[in-house]
Amino acid sequence: MQPSNEPSFRESVDIMFNRAVALMDLPPGLEEKIRVCNATYTVRFGVRLRGKIQTFTGYRSVHSEHMEPVKGGIRYSLGVNQDEVEALAALMTYKCALVEAPFGGSKGGLCIDPRDYDEHELELITRRFAYELIKRDMINPAQNVPAPDMGTGEREMAWIADQYKRMNTTDINGVACVTGKPTNAGGIQGRTEATGRGVQYALQAFFKDEKGMEKAGLSGTLQDKRVVVQGLGNVGYHAAKFLSEEDGCKITAIIERDGALFDDAGLDVESVHQWIAKHGTITGYPNSKMEAKGAKLLEAECDILIPAALEGVINLSNAARIKAPLIIEAANGPVTAGADEILREKGTVIIPDMYANAGGVTVSYFEWVKNLSHIRFGRMQRRQEEARHQLVVDELERLDRYLGDAWSMSPDFKKKYLRGAGELELVRSGLDDTMSTAYQSMAEVWHGRDDVSDLRTAAYLVSINKVAASYKAKGL
Ligand code: GLU
Repeated sequence: MQPSNEPSFRESVDIMFNRAVALMDLPPGLEEKIRVCNATYTVRFGVRLRGKIQTFTGYRSVHSEHMEPVKGGIRYSLGVNQDEVEALAALMTYKCALVEAPFGGSKGGLCIDPRDYDEHELELITRRFAYELIKRDMINPAQNVPAPDMGTGEREMAWIADQYKRMNTTDINGVACVTGKPTNAGGIQGRTEATGRGVQYALQAFFKDEKGMEKAGLSGTLQDKRVVVQGLGNVGYHAAKFLSEEDGCKITAIIERDGALFDDAGLDVESVHQWIAKHGTITGYPNSKMEAKGAKLLEAECDILIPAALEGVINLSNAARIKAPLIIEAANGPVTAGADEILREKGTVIIPDMYANAGGVTVSYFEWVKNLSHIRFGRMQRRQEEARHQLVVDELERLDRYLGDAWSMSPDFKKKYLRGAGELELVRSGLDDTMSTAYQSMAEVWHGRDDVSDLRTAAYLVSINKVAASYKAKGL
């Protein structure tokens, strides 16, 4: 799909990194130290399936250990290769630095199409891959903590956590060896939808930035903005659902691997999602028009384009025809370095991946902290908070009686105010705060420096500065 004159994903990330460091004044050698990937481990292992041994190839790449543990997902896809995991591991370093999650960057992958195996076979494969990584400390709560990525989810994370516990029976922090687990197996509420929720919060932060909106030629609120989403997987689905149901956006097209659905009046995300879950395809979906060449819809007239699937989908072959004034990179690396240059020249504003999809790792951070502290967030404070709120409500009720018809409490104030924050509310508030603080730090550089014309360079500057500061503090 990507033209052959395009650099590889890894090279693309390096080009973007180099553009940013050219504007910095790093000590000699440090730039190279930050850019390179520290280590990539390749493992080939056999699993007996359907009467014969099948060999699988997996990777775990560690980009930077300026902070430990290192963090990043494990993906299951036939497209997995060393170049890809290294690019993704590098993005994890910058992503964690930008949102101040105290981790280095890592990424793993298994070259497999999970749809070719049943659940039991996937469990055997996952446990064997985890075994290979655990015995080399490449999965470990203090050193390297994976999470879900494309093709994996809570189920795989639960198997990995269990495998670790079997191999480290006395490690009291064992459950923190992986994040994105189901809530009944040490997970945290709000992790599954975290990346999509983060995309929503990122857009909300952008829409509050007057200068940014002006640069994109946009005005008003998210209400009725036309949005094209590519990929209705975990990230695309949740982002599109929240944006349409809570912010009033119109999802005018959904692009999937087998075509695209489109409707100017707005698609019902939940009903498309259910259709795909039932039929495994968008084909036949009754309530909208369909275009077989789905990628064409990337070029549709819209206000916001959300690539939430693969890397490299906006490249030299289509960048010039993209009409959206604002692209938010919900996937990792969806815009190649070449396309990035074309779009920058056209004035398209791109909210970069390392910020836009950082909601996942942010909530992973909360889950890891919860696991290490061995207590659910809010468990100690909730009742006490509710008791203090009750005092205020009692006083207001007294006033209410005293003032008679002149004043009364608004109907659901009491219900809302009395409820102390539970885990989900705390996770959401932590995520919202993280996304808005990180946006401010990028925007300050973007609007404040004449030599920085785009948000991606601004994001790199902020994160590289943080990584450099941490190396300096270590005496490197
Ligand atoms: N796979 C996700 C990402 O690319 C999440 C990583 C994590 O939570 O560690 O950001």
